[in-house]
Amino acid sequence: MGNFRRVCLLTVAVFLAVCFSFHGLAVDGNRTVAGSQTRTYFQETRQELTIHTIEGRQKGPTLLIIAGIHGDEGAGCLTAERYIDVKLEKGNLIIVPRLNGPAVDSGKRCGLGGDMNRLFNLPPGSSNPDAKLVNLAKQLIRQSDYVLNLHQGHDFYNPRWVSRKRNPSKWGQSNVIDKATYHLPSGRKLELGNFAKQVANRTNQRISDGDFHFTVNNTNTSGKRSRHREQRGSLTYYSLYHQQKIALGLEATKNCSLAEAISYLTIAINAAIEEAGIRAEALPSESRQSAGELWEARSKSLSKGKGKG
Ligand SMILES: [Zn+2]
Repeated sequence: MGNFRRVCLLTVAVFLAVCFSFHGLAVDGNRTVAGSQTRTYFQETRQELTIHTIEGRQKGPTLLIIAGIHGDEGAGCLTAERYIDVKLEKGNLIIVPRLNGPAVDSGKRCGLGGDMNRLFNLPPGSSNPDAKLVNLAKQLIRQSDYVLNLHQGHDFYNPRWVSRKRNPSKWGQSNVIDKATYHLPSGRKLELGNFAKQVANRTNQRISDGDFHFTVNNTNTSGKRSRHREQRGSLTYYSLYHQQKIALGLEATKNCSLAEAISYLTIAINAAIEEAGIRAEALPSESRQSAGELWEARSKSLSKGKGKG
């Protein structure tokens, strides 16, 4: 019996060690407040990464918000940060405001290992310096039901050629999906096209200027004739094809002020949260004014931190 107890205790200890090491990745910093937790990885390195987890009072779906995979699309990071103090009645949020820290810090698309949105098909054991960040993102995707990857693109996506600034090769103001209907081995279907369309409908009801309405952008990434085969290494493609999650790229246009882009992304995220069936006590304000005030406050604190003006 004594031996049996020792074996049981050892088993429990090993199980807990595996759980707390988060699949082999040690947590450097940890802060827990009722219903929410903040964890920091790779602390004191250029690739420091903070993950915010918010649990609702009632069980429900989990939505993952990732920003900063591209460092020159600043509206995404600023918008994601607005969700870290949200209180939830139902469902859960996981928020990563700066996935690619070195890229965000330099304001450039790529970080240490190239374009991170092409690294989600790296071979196991890759020596790419961003592989550890990508692997961490993959763990978060596994815990989620819905995935949003925030971006900013030039001009405006349209399925047909309307003008030089509004055509199928552009990305701005679109909900990007890799496939409209994904067939699961169980026979069930993931209807990404419907989800993206419903999110666009909810979003557009709150945007008065029709030129800035969101359109569903199905890149049909796995198709032989896809114009976006490079997206097979993307975060959303990985989420759908390897984890069977409903994943959307939310692209705000760069052809507007930063405050407007923050406002558009806030509206689109709020719409996705509602469509997913997650309920919050209150969601961040969608007005341009509040997005502008946030941006001003943030610029002041940044310039203070750098010892400027
Ligand atoms: Zn991007």
